[in-house]
Amino acid sequence: MDEKTIGVLGGGQLGRMLALEARRMGYRLVQWTGGDQSGAERLADEVIYGAFDDETALASFLDQVDVVTVEFENIPKELIETIANDKPIFPRAEAIAVCQDRELEKNFLKAHEIPTTPFRIVESAAELDQALSELSGDVIVKTARDGYDGKGQLALPIENRPSSEEAWKHFEGRRAIVEKKVDLTGEISVMVVRGQDGEVVSYDPAENEHRNHILHLSIVPARLPESALQEAQEIARKVAEKLEYVGVIGVEFFINQDGQLLVNEMAPRPHNSGHHTLDACLTSQFEQQLRAVVGLPLGSTELMKPVVMWNLLGDLWKSANEQPDWSPVLSTAGARLHLYGKQSAKSQRKMGHVTICADSVEEALSKTLRCISSY
Ligand code: ADP
Ligand code: MG
Repeated sequence: MDEKTIGVLGGGQLGRMLALEARRMGYRLVQWTGGDQSGAERLADEVIYGAFDDETALASFLDQVDVVTVEFENIPKELIETIANDKPIFPRAEAIAVCQDRELEKNFLKAHEIPTTPFRIVESAAELDQALSELSGDVIVKTARDGYDGKGQLALPIENRPSSEEAWKHFEGRRAIVEKKVDLTGEISVMVVRGQDGEVVSYDPAENEHRNHILHLSIVPARLPESALQEAQEIARKVAEKLEYVGVIGVEFFINQDGQLLVNEMAPRPHNSGHHTLDACLTSQFEQQLRAVVGLPLGSTELMKPVVMWNLLGDLWKSANEQPDWSPVLSTAGARLHLYGKQSAKSQRKMGHVTICADSVEEALSKTLRCISSY
């Protein structure tokens, strides 16, 4: 294995976990945060803090790296294209572009006959009004670009709905997608990894529970019929193949009242619902990302033990700098605590996660719920 330097765009916890695995495997990692300071810098070999439009930062980044990847999809498209002219970047620029724009993403899914929720693209109050009359019932409006963890989203239930003019004020000057609200029976996600030679592997689907549009728990194996789990993996693999993707992609699914799987969105990077792979799978999603970007064979995705991942949000913190008492977690057999080293806790900010492995998924879940109830 040569000593390659991997360049990472983005400065969040996914980059931090990637850096941890890169250190273990002997790679150098240069992280360009774009201005963010969120803990990743303590693990990367080099950190560049310049804004993503800073030419000096770009030159320094390109000078140091052999291959580039992203840990956050909302990196300016122009920057990704500029980098792609100079260095290999995985996933390729076009695949990132599709995943970072909800309009391109939905059109891609439609073109490949992959079921999604009905939607309309709108750019004005009048178009929003038209979309609302075409899509009957409750809808969710989302900015086409730059949203995450439910940011940039507005639910418009059929009852007590503001006027389209009023609602559009949230999106003024932007392009938005209006999605029919799915009456969910559940949500799952599948992490797929595709290598440079086209080899594809996928992980067991995770069953995801969200609170306020933010992932709360991931339960693996998902408690769904085997046929649904198989189908989700097939769809997710198809997405990776059609995107000619290299690296880890997270494919999120809604399950509606008829048990039908609808693709919600794709994340062109390791995914929050794949964090359990660090503790419960033979190869973590972060190791797979490294293997894919440097061109190594992919690893086994086998689940060693049933597991539940619980996201730790800033709301648990006693104050911005004071952590809660972790004793209930640390005294639980099978639990592992991951903290991201972020400077200050904020409401709804992801500060860390806990994974709890057990002999059965029921036991892992009951241990997790017991931990949660002590906070
Ligand atoms: P983000 O980029 O913030 O993850 P998502 O589109 O995945 O955005 O939305 C976050 C969560 O909000 C989803 O996982 C789901 O729980 C809920 N949600 C979003 N869109 C819909 C929808 N059309 N119908 C039902 N629930 C939705
Ligand atoms: Mg999502």
